[in-house]
Amino acid sequence: MSIGYKSFHEHSIRDPKSFWSEQAKLVDWHQPFSQVLDYSKPPFAKWFVGGQTNLCHNAVDRHLKDRANQIALVAVSTETNQEHAYTFAELHDEVNRMAAILQANGVKKGDRVLIYMPMIAQACFAMLACTRIGAIHSVVFGGFASHSLASRIDDAKPKMIITAEAGMRGGKAVPYKPLLDEAITLSSAKPEKVLIVNRGLSEYTTVANRDLDYAAEREKHLNAKVPVEWVDATHPSYILYTSGTTGKPKGVQRDTGGYAVALASSMRLIFGGNPGETMFTTSDIGWVVGHSYIIYGPLINGMATIMYEGTPLRPDAGIWWSLVEKYKVSVMFSAPTAVRVLKKQDPAFLSKYNLSTLRTLFLAGEPLDEPTASWIHDALKKPVVDNYWQTETGWPILAIQRGVEVMPHKFGSPGVPVYGYNMKLLDEATGAELGPDQKGVVAIEGPLPPGCMQTVWGDDQRFIKTYWETVPGKMVYSTFDWAIKDKDGYFFILGRTDDVINVAGHRLGTREIEESISSHANVAEVAVVGVEDQLKGQVAIGFVIAKDPSKTANLEAEVMKTVDSQLGAVARPARVYMVSALPKTRSGKIVRRALQAVAEGRDPGDISTMEDQSVLAQIKHVVGK
Ligand code: ATP
Ligand code: MG
Repeated sequence: MSIGYKSFHEHSIRDPKSFWSEQAKLVDWHQPFSQVLDYSKPPFAKWFVGGQTNLCHNAVDRHLKDRANQIALVAVSTETNQEHAYTFAELHDEVNRMAAILQANGVKKGDRVLIYMPMIAQACFAMLACTRIGAIHSVVFGGFASHSLASRIDDAKPKMIITAEAGMRGGKAVPYKPLLDEAITLSSAKPEKVLIVNRGLSEYTTVANRDLDYAAEREKHLNAKVPVEWVDATHPSYILYTSGTTGKPKGVQRDTGGYAVALASSMRLIFGGNPGETMFTTSDIGWVVGHSYIIYGPLINGMATIMYEGTPLRPDAGIWWSLVEKYKVSVMFSAPTAVRVLKKQDPAFLSKYNLSTLRTLFLAGEPLDEPTASWIHDALKKPVVDNYWQTETGWPILAIQRGVEVMPHKFGSPGVPVYGYNMKLLDEATGAELGPDQKGVVAIEGPLPPGCMQTVWGDDQRFIKTYWETVPGKMVYSTFDWAIKDKDGYFFILGRTDDVINVAGHRLGTREIEESISSHANVAEVAVVGVEDQLKGQVAIGFVIAKDPSKTANLEAEVMKTVDSQLGAVARPARVYMVSALPKTRSGKIVRRALQAVAEGRDPGDISTMEDQSVLAQIKHVVGK
């Protein structure tokens, strides 16, 4: 199928109403909408006004007619060595039981339910049970500790929290329940009930009149049938906090109808998945990729989805590919950071399995550097599709949309604007629109398409102020990423706007300097930040993890030379420190603001979203501050 990208995209911008009413046919409506779009109060876009639908119905119930006995969900754990497949009929039963538990414990439409769980099937049941009854879920990544959890409890004020007593990582049990108890002590909002899935991995204590055992509750509702609650298209389906790479996480609020339509359409036009096939997304339900493309997207599209608990390396680096073979995966979605982990292993793991069903590998979440892209592309011999988006948008902003037109890929570019997104590249200082090969901020002209955030949970003003009032003279949505666009309309993301540094009046992107440094053969990973300098305003400082740490005697000088020759002396880092690890968020992104603070001898501030806080102490030591 080739519709022609250019005219397809133009139609979506010129006449969003006719465009999206066509896409809306991909989902079931209990009551048809009377208005495709209400944009009378910009920047708040209301999609499919007057329509009523339900995410759980679209993901589960509606498939019972044609595919009740088809697999819907495969939960694989290489941590507990368990594997369980649920058909759509079985998933329907489990979701009904979970929904009955919620209702029996007082959860109603509009109430929030916080889900703090590892990658187990019950987490999927919990999300779908919430949307089934119109409750608003807020999934918090299982790797977060009590402080991060407490701030999310205070913001979302959940009536109920669903958890498991423990997760497991690298063969070790990671207790969740004590962290949750501590978080509830720390928070001022208190949930009425806590539902615990006991996996038998670790001991825990319970609180009387508050804590419930999932297995016991489930027994009470084995035959429960909980009718779908039809909600307005604009009814919030969930709140999800951003990764916190740049600062305090924001509570992204998503609607129901617009989200269902955006996912259904993207599953076909971007991801090219067909009903009856299998999708394997290696993310976590705690992130937006997990919400959209582990749970809702594939299920809405009538596909089986795989939930995977474990690392990509256990029992060996072939595990993911063995799942592709076993479950005949046709669409796979992962992140550059995961590919970089695999890249350190023997590529033979990739040729060991029959990957003939796999059509495409999608990667998102951070810049896809050329060495990583080429490695996975050569190893798989399948198209590797970079796609760029944010928690805020819920689905891709930039991608080669192969279901629309198979356009050529360009290394280093996630592609062209996705239909529905009116993309602008703007000058940060003046707001003027930029031409080819000029660097600017990636912005989206309102209305944001269906599926994007409605507002910041509980704070409309913060939504306006944070996202829509940063470009002078214009109300446009800022992504806070900067990029250039080539003459063919392909975007190249250069980094975050707060990663721009100013060296003696020259504006440089830390990402460009990083790319240059990574081209040195002995550099495994690198981060560059701008650090205050009395003479030049700012200078670049590099932090390098060497591939071979025994050969770093001259690496600093060599790296400087590399940058000199590729970008010019002005971009040359003033110092390059050799480190053994970089500070990262739990979704694998480098926290540059913390590096910068350490390099400037400042307090790094809130680092609760960071994976391993001891990394910063080591870096402080290396920097000598
Ligand atoms: P916070 O907003 O709290 O600082 P975050 O921006 O890391 O956290 P996410 O919404 O998970 O939270 O990440 C979106 C960001 O990730 C994008 O704005 C962009 O900087 C980066 N990103 C995502 N996909 C790509 C990609 N394909 N290429 C380059 N960068 C990407
Ligand atoms: Mg962000």
